[in-house]
Amino acid sequence: MTPRFERVWQANPEVGAVLRESPTIGVARKRLFDYLNRQEREFLNHNFNIYALELATTLSSVQVMKSIISVRNEEKTGFSALRQLFDAAHGLVPEEKLTPGFKEEFRHLFRAIRGRSKLYPEWQAVPPKRLSGREAAIVRSGKLDRFSEYVEEHIRRYPTGLDPKVMKRRAENRQRIMVTFGAAESDWNDYRWHLRNVMTDAEALGKAVRLTPEEKQAIKLANEHRIPFGVTPYYASLMDFEPRRVNDHSIRAQVIPSMTYVEMMAENKGKGLHSLDFMQEYDTSPIDLVTRRYPRIAILKPYNTCAQICVYCQRNWEIEQPMAPHAMAPADQIDAAVSWFRDHPGLTEVLVTGGDPLVTGNNFIDRLLDKLSRIRRIERIRIGSRVFVTVPQRITKKLADIIARYHEPGKREMCLVTHIQHVYEVTEETMHAVQEFRKRGIAVYNQMVFTRENSRRFEAVALRRLLRLIGVDPYYTFNTKGKEETVDFRVPIARLRQEQKEEARLMPGLVRTDEAVFNVPGMGKNYVRGTQHHSVIMILPDGRRVYEFHPWEKRISLAPTYVDTDVGIWEYLEWLKSRGEDLKDYRSIWYYY
Ligand code: SF4
Repeated sequence: MTPRFERVWQANPEVGAVLRESPTIGVARKRLFDYLNRQEREFLNHNFNIYALELATTLSSVQVMKSIISVRNEEKTGFSALRQLFDAAHGLVPEEKLTPGFKEEFRHLFRAIRGRSKLYPEWQAVPPKRLSGREAAIVRSGKLDRFSEYVEEHIRRYPTGLDPKVMKRRAENRQRIMVTFGAAESDWNDYRWHLRNVMTDAEALGKAVRLTPEEKQAIKLANEHRIPFGVTPYYASLMDFEPRRVNDHSIRAQVIPSMTYVEMMAENKGKGLHSLDFMQEYDTSPIDLVTRRYPRIAILKPYNTCAQICVYCQRNWEIEQPMAPHAMAPADQIDAAVSWFRDHPGLTEVLVTGGDPLVTGNNFIDRLLDKLSRIRRIERIRIGSRVFVTVPQRITKKLADIIARYHEPGKREMCLVTHIQHVYEVTEETMHAVQEFRKRGIAVYNQMVFTRENSRRFEAVALRRLLRLIGVDPYYTFNTKGKEETVDFRVPIARLRQEQKEEARLMPGLVRTDEAVFNVPGMGKNYVRGTQHHSVIMILPDGRRVYEFHPWEKRISLAPTYVDTDVGIWEYLEWLKSRGEDLKDYRSIWYYY
């Protein structure tokens, strides 16, 4: 149902009256600030008849409201939500001009600033009774049992690649794909065969799984515009044959682009290569093949392609095609980059990534690690690779032995950082690949990108839990970046914060070891869990929030902030509804800022 503006005023009649009775926007701003200050004073000094948790929501909402109506933030964002509200209160904006997203944001905000978020209805009904000792512990334990059942109930909704039924289906998929390629079992177990047979068009992938007309069209358009597309036979075997996207939604979406994505990519490509460099890697590269955003660690990218291409890859502006023949950097460039590391004594850690360095040959990996290990100061070498899910056959005993040779406890740590998105991607092959490293004392970490495809209630929790069981430590959960072509993937920051607080937090500490971050272009990671690192500074007419992110250098040295527009909560909730989700489960999302 599209909310009427009337409901916004009903949420807080006092704000409605202030706006209606103010003759000018300047007066309205002053009176609103007075009202918000009064609210704070009232709740902190006089009105103690409010539950502490409701008070916390009220106080943070008051701050957000002040931030939104401030002149500073109007200038920073070039928009005035206050003007929109003022005009609406004076009947100057037709109802249909106000989007549901905008109305819903303010309806919730207005409710919260008067202490009526309705997040704790049980408090209004029966104030919690104070118990103590064993009696309290038993009651508490009963409550925790119910939480645990709630977690379990949700996790069960997501079948994993280790479920016997799924494994059986995949064995059939594998046979079908092998017949299509005329491949033998020995081919399937050989990573080189997979890398030689990456499917790069709809015709090839269409022989492995059924594609919808839209999927075919998007792949065709991607090919026409030379937008990288590719899927390994192994990864194709993880897709369900029919394109219903019930369980394999994350897997298909990971590699099959949407029309929106392809059209926007094609348009941006026309503007020149660096318009796609959203992360401003070009501006943080002091020498070819190196990216540096932090004092102690820098990135080395010797190889510029992957076994297959993730649709929302932040390096999609650099990668030409999967397994591109000229993806390896010239030897002298690699040597110069390694020398650069040698010449920068502050650096103690290297992240070797790409592209995917593990799709190169053993000899190359060995030589590169040998060169890096000769810089005695380098105490950790991380290798970023997605082969654990794209072609786990690549993790041979030989490769693991090579990497393990450079792992010297007390001197130098070797570790792997992978990118697993969903429990449906986790297979026995992935688990065995991980265990090859764990057996050798080498840790494997995971960076998950929080997209629409893994953002339903407890979907990310299900993954973290399974990762721990196969030997992978959750490391980062990335908020999807503001790249416009990836709009189909993006999830509001409020949802990521909600997930961390209401889902991840319910798991034991060793399962939720990841940090939720927004990778700020040109700056580095911003920890989104703490509101002290960012603030909501505006709500746009379409309901999208504008955030101001603080640099990690805050309180260490002066550095610029970064302003970014999020995706709208209303649209995201509508999408969840279309996926069959019960929106009551997500109702607190509006109060995560
Ligand atoms: S594996 Fe990493 S570098 Fe390669 S396409 Fe995916 S996100 Fe990009």
